[in-house]
Amino acid sequence: MEKQNLDWGSLGFGYIKTDKRYVSNFKDGAWDNGTLTDDNTVAISECAGVLQYAQTCFEGLKAYTTKQGKIVTFRPDLNAERMATTCERLEMPVFPKERFIDAVKQVVSANASWVPPYGSGATLYLRPYMFGSSSVIGVKPAEEYQFRLFGTPVGPYFKGGAHPITVRISDLDRAAPHGTGDIKAGLNYAMSLHNIVDAHKNGFDENMYLDPQTHTYIEETGGANILFVTKDNKLVTPKSNSILPSITRRSLVDVAKKYLGIEVEERKIHKDELPDFVECGLCGTAAVISPIGKIVDHGKEICLPSGMNDFGPVLKKVYETLTGIQMGLIEAPEGWIYEIC
Ligand SMILES: *Cc1c(COP(=O)(O)O)cnc(C)c1O
Repeated sequence: MEKQNLDWGSLGFGYIKTDKRYVSNFKDGAWDNGTLTDDNTVAISECAGVLQYAQTCFEGLKAYTTKQGKIVTFRPDLNAERMATTCERLEMPVFPKERFIDAVKQVVSANASWVPPYGSGATLYLRPYMFGSSSVIGVKPAEEYQFRLFGTPVGPYFKGGAHPITVRISDLDRAAPHGTGDIKAGLNYAMSLHNIVDAHKNGFDENMYLDPQTHTYIEETGGANILFVTKDNKLVTPKSNSILPSITRRSLVDVAKKYLGIEVEERKIHKDELPDFVECGLCGTAAVISPIGKIVDHGKEICLPSGMNDFGPVLKKVYETLTGIQMGLIEAPEGWIYEIC
């Protein structure tokens, strides 16, 4: 199959229209059969639930080419399960797991020419999402929904080596106590936009959010979970019911324990502990791990000993092991890699 004529290595993280996307509609209490379409536009009522009351959610995963030349995706079953949890919380119908995985396979197969080659560092980013498509004016769930899934090629996250970032401790919250912080709802992102624009204006790459109840424990950033490394090489990650259960974080924790014999603690992390850590990084599908070099807490700079030039040694090892598993260089745990073609 002929690949698209793109300079894969210099692609950014943006939307490029690919050939086919998957659409399925929920009406009269049931999902239709779903289909691939060329049409990348959506036509809905001006009063659709998504437009009035933000009834929408999404997922994110990648398709890529392994060393063996296979096009695969990583743990799409977990994206399907997480989307089901999100939908239940937003009073949206669940799109069944087998159908979610089938939609991933259909979209990736139909857009195989858009899946970047092995070694380019680029991937085909997949965006499954769902929204209330029928009219609502009184506040209530929509009756009809649309599930869609498209792919867009994205470039390597790190161009020319890792670039540790600077984050600030945020005064604003991304989630309410007992709210929606643990589901992948569009609304969590809408309300983070002001704060990220403000962070960038002030010279910070990201906001590190604290627990919304007491503002003392570390939670996550707007779109990534957080990992820390202690002086005695333990991996520590925040435990909270208002953070999003990152599939990358859960996979990294497994890899650290089972492949590398690293001790892992999932627990509350007080912000006063920050100066005790030797490495810190963000984790999510986009970067796998993005190292943090500096955390700024209201003018007080906490510089991680791993510095501003590279990953620290422990996060680097964990990063290389998981990306090695994804790319087919290291044997994967049962069920992690879904071969498409
Ligand atoms: C999507 C997301 C993550 C990362 O999850 P992955 O499954 O690893 O991509 C982390 N935090 C938030 C708030 C997210 O929305």
